Parts: sequence; structure tokens; C-alpha cells
Amino acid sequence: MKLYLNHSYRYAVEQTLMSLFPGDAPLYPEAPPRAGENALYSSLSYGKQWVTACAVLIHEGKQYRRRARAEIRALSDELERGRVLQRMIRLSFYRAAADALGEEPPWGALTGVRPVKLPVKAMEHGLTRGQAETRMKSVYRVSPSRLELVMSCADACLAAKQTLTENEISLYIGIPFCPSRCAYCSFVSAEVGRSLKLVEPFLEGLLEEVYTAGAMLRRTGKTVRSVYIGGGTPTTLSASQLERLMGAVGDSFDLSRCTEYTVEAGRPDTITAEKAAVIAACGAGRTSVNPQSMEDAALRAMGRPHTAVDVLRAYELVRRTGSLSVNMDLIAGLPGSTPGGFFHSLDTVLSLEPENITVHTLALKKGSSLLTGGRFVLPSAEEVTSMLEYAWRALAQAGYKPYYLYRQKYMSGSFENVGWCMPGRQSIYNICMMEELHSVLALGGGGITKLVNPATGAIRRISNPKYPREYIERLPHILAEKEQMIWPINSAKSTAASGRTPRDF
Ligand code: SF4
Repeated sequence: MKLYLNHSYRYAVEQTLMSLFPGDAPLYPEAPPRAGENALYSSLSYGKQWVTACAVLIHEGKQYRRRARAEIRALSDELERGRVLQRMIRLSFYRAAADALGEEPPWGALTGVRPVKLPVKAMEHGLTRGQAETRMKSVYRVSPSRLELVMSCADACLAAKQTLTENEISLYIGIPFCPSRCAYCSFVSAEVGRSLKLVEPFLEGLLEEVYTAGAMLRRTGKTVRSVYIGGGTPTTLSASQLERLMGAVGDSFDLSRCTEYTVEAGRPDTITAEKAAVIAACGAGRTSVNPQSMEDAALRAMGRPHTAVDVLRAYELVRRTGSLSVNMDLIAGLPGSTPGGFFHSLDTVLSLEPENITVHTLALKKGSSLLTGGRFVLPSAEEVTSMLEYAWRALAQAGYKPYYLYRQKYMSGSFENVGWCMPGRQSIYNICMMEELHSVLALGGGGITKLVNPATGAIRRISNPKYPREYIERLPHILAEKEQMIWPINSAKSTAASGRTPRDF
């Protein structure tokens, strides 16, 4: 689509274009559109009290004009300024596009990865839950089903925030190895068969990073609220390697205020009784056994060399420890899967009664091998919708509640990934990480440290190398970064404390 902007917020326009006109590439020609061509004119204008975003959309020969505006005083905070203007630009474009298309996506005008932030922020600025809900409905035009999800997650986020204290952080440790590569996977993780030689040197390097980061944290007075060992597949490590890693974590960090310690077991074909016992004995209280599907044909199509029976066996092994709570991941929309097959997978997982169930929707990203051959048929958007609707009903009936969610770029349809939990069993790490409630110190392969300034919401990111070989080679640099890490100081004033909330609509 031809785009004509009088402002520099191309990204806001392109995100909305991608969500509403998925096949249209953004073009920025100098010449005006020719007769019959679709185009968008997006502009910002400033008055005494209001800033107005205007969108004029030319679509199939007709013109649609819509506006969105915000109070000028909402722009006084430098950090907020860009966010407010982009929101207005998106809204005006969305409203014009909704008029032109005659239908609206389930997430309405929201294009971001973290939709829960909006109602949370609104309630923190003094709106009641009902007012925040109305705003999501009337301003962002979120559908009833997504509204229920997002408000439930906002409740969980606000409740989690109440329990956080100053100087708490989460600790993430990434193990970038897997027993084999799943066809849909976009994570960078090395197949252990091909990179077996790298596992031990990687672990040696990681132990050094754990000791260095532990010493740094003690110096800066930060405490660890939650630990998450993920990947990749941490249980690709042997039982004794896991024991060394978890022993180093226990020796290096003060875990006296840690309320949640997760070690992802992920792939059922890596879980043994010995590893489950080590995980439980070394201090973790939470793990995951991720079937993704309980259909053997779908598992084969994904390139996962385990069966549904292996999932049941692995689940039994971790439950036998007596102390590990369990998350299980399922994916709606896998290649070759059917609504009936997905319903069966969900029902089987529900019958096991894990504390958490996370329902993902297949998101195709660059790097996923499913993109490279066109070998598999993906279920249609309607079929995926029926899978998700079934999941929401069945999970709610079984007593689970949605507590965190995120959307992904390149996600098929207008879907989302949702974490569900039994009452009181929400993962504090998942909420803090997803809603960026506090800093996350990340060690190991592919870890991204996020230093969050709680007063302003500003985030500084520091990435560790993704590949094991690169990680080993760059270890001196990684250790120096950890030693000299500078934590954000809560200097800026929170906008929540600055009086009446500026209006935008
Ligand atoms: S086990 Fe998980 S991280 Fe590893 S390849 Fe499969 S989906 Fe990716």
C-alpha cells in the first residue's frame, strides 16, 4: 500500500498495515497514487489543547477518513510522547481500515506484543476495573473473548506486583541445546548430537558466569525473587551436569527470598528419574513437560522423536518426586493437526491435572524449517479458532484461569499465547518477565538481560551470544559485562503520581 506520512512514526503505521492488510507491503512513493490504487495519508496536527492524528484511507476506489486525538499535556513527558503519538496514529488508521473492511480482528486496534500492559496501566492511573474494561472495548475495540483473557491477566499482573519488593530481580539461565530440532522452532538451539563436544566447555563457561554474576549481585544488594532455567532444553544436560549447575546457582546467589525456582524439562525424551530427582533435590519446585501435541502423527510431522506415551511416562517421573509442580505446553495450529486431534490433546493433558497449561498458537518465524519446504499443511484460521475456543471453555470448566499472555510478530491469524493456572499457581517469573515488572538478569546461551527502571518503564537490554561456540569464545567479554553491570536508579517520577490522567480517544 502506498503510504504518505507527515510524521516519522513509520513503524506504527506499518504494524497496523501488517495486522489489517497482511499481504500489503509498505511503499513510500513521491508521486501521488494513481486512480484505483490503495493508499493511506497519515498526519499529525497540533492544536492548543489537542494533538490529532488523521488517517485518510483510499481503498478500492472509496475514501475513509478517521481521527484519534490526545490532550497535548499527555506529551509533556518525553518518554510518553512517542507512545501517545504512535497510539493515536495507529487508532486513526485502524478506524479508517475497519470502516473500509467492514470487519475487525479479535484484538481490535491492538498490534503490540503485550496487550495486558494497557489495562494494568489504566488501573494504576486510577481507573476502576470496569472503566479499564470499557476503555479496551470502546477505544481499542477488543472482542469479548480477548477482553476476558486480557482482564484476567491484568488482575494477575496487579496481584503479582503487590508482592514485589524493591531490589528484587529474576534470574534466567539459558541452556542452548536440544536433543533434536523441532520443525516449527525458531529458537537458536544446537542439536546435542552434532554439538556434543561443546556441552562440557559451555557448562564450564556458564559456571564461571554464575559465580561472577552471583558476586556482582551480592555487591549491589539485589535479591533473587525467581529463578528460571530454560533454553533450549536444560534436561539435555546429564543428571550430574544439572547437579553442578544448580549447585553453583545455590552457592552463588542468596535464594532465601526466592519463591519460585523452575527448571524446564521440556522435551519428554530427555527426562529421566535421575534428572527429575536432581532437579527436585537441588531446590527447584517447578518444571515443565511439554507435549505440544498428544497426537503421534503431529509429533512426527514436527520432527519430535517421542510419542504421546513418552509424555505420560515423563509426567509420571516428575510427579514421583513429590515436590515438583508442572507446566505443560500445547500448540494449536500445528501442521497436520485437526481440531479433533487438538481437543484430544487438551483433554489428555487436563486429565493429568498439571498446575499450569500454556496454550500456544503456532507462530511462523524466520528460522522455522516449516517455512522452507512447504511440506506440511497448516490448519486454517477457522480451525485454529475452534481449537482455541475449545481450549478456553475446557480450561475454564476445569478451574484454570488465564494469568499471562503475549502475542508474537508473524503469529498466524490474530492469535496469542496464553498461560493458564490452577488457583494460586501462577508463575511469578512468567508474569514479571512478560509484563516487564522488574529486571531479569540472564546468563547462558541466548539470555537477554533486561534492566527495568520501575519508575519510568525504560528498559536496557544486554544480550548474551545465542550459539554455544560463540558463547564460549566471547566468555571473557560476557564476564566483564556481568562484573560491571550498572543497575537502573529509580530517578524519574512515575506518571501515575502526576495528577489527573490525560485523556486520549
Ligand atoms: S525442544 Fe523446544 S527449543 Fe528445542 S528445538 Fe524443540 S521447540 Fe525448539
